Amino acid sequence: MSTSTKRVAIVTGAAEGIGRGIALRLAKDGFDLGLFDLPRSQEKLEALAGEIRKEYGARVVPVYGDVSKEEDVQRLVETVVAELGSLYAMIANAGISINRVLHETTAEDMERVLGVNFKGTFFCFKHAAKQLIKQGKGGRLVGASSIAGKKGLPEQSVYSATKFAIRGMTQCAALDYGKYGITVNSYAPGVIETPLMDYLDEYHTSKNGQPRGSWTKSFNSLSALGRNGHPEDVAKLVSFLVSDDAAFVTGQSYLVDGGICFD
Ligand code: NAD
Repeated sequence: MSTSTKRVAIVTGAAEGIGRGIALRLAKDGFDLGLFDLPRSQEKLEALAGEIRKEYGARVVPVYGDVSKEEDVQRLVETVVAELGSLYAMIANAGISINRVLHETTAEDMERVLGVNFKGTFFCFKHAAKQLIKQGKGGRLVGASSIAGKKGLPEQSVYSATKFAIRGMTQCAALDYGKYGITVNSYAPGVIETPLMDYLDEYHTSKNGQPRGSWTKSFNSLSALGRNGHPEDVAKLVSFLVSDDAAFVTGQSYLVDGGICFD
């Protein structure tokens, strides 16, 4: 374990999409990083780790596993603390989605989405909170909710339920951890162009016989700003939430959607 005065953040689901954008932004902000993703994403995560080390001189520890397994998340926190010395921020970003009307959703799909989105966030908050309380210097827990965690959307019963759950857990954990100087917040993205959106686009366009990309494109006109978002748009919000400037902000789930949904 080398010593450094830099703060340490963990980002789950960091190999692609929003998590990758957050990892790059937090490295730019001066964090050392623990990056976590599934073993199948090893090539992408190692490439990102290399890019961050070269570009920002940050210490980066890639760890592989599945956020829906408690032992993997526990190992993630232990490994990062052993290698980087401490933890300051946990960004529980990893999530998956399916678009299905409720009665066509299999029990297996429901369990899978619940496992990654809800249980995964719960395990990340739990093991990070234990470490932050032990350290006694405060810290940050950040979850990934969604616009679907603010209002119901068609064909998203299960996904939306997990994102409402994350919003609820964010509020409760904020109340529990305020006394330790730990803030708990979530980001609630609208339509952000990532591999997850590509996957949903493929499902909808092939079902409806439309050209690939047209489903994602159709959302551009939904927002006040007239465009879909990019991972950097979400990363800027996370950069604020983990900063000292956000010390008095807790229990919130912030929409970052270009103006689709208004609280
Ligand atoms: P993505 O699919 O593009 O990337 C997700 C990353 O998480 C991938 O690298 C994937 O390998 C990893 N991952 C998936 N399951 C995992 C598991 N069990 N354990 C560890 N890693 C795992 O997704 P994204 O669009 O970047 O979404 C990131 C988060 O933001 C998710 O929680 C998602 O629900 C939320 N979100 C996204 C959007 C959007 O429009 N893209 C909107 C609202 C909320």
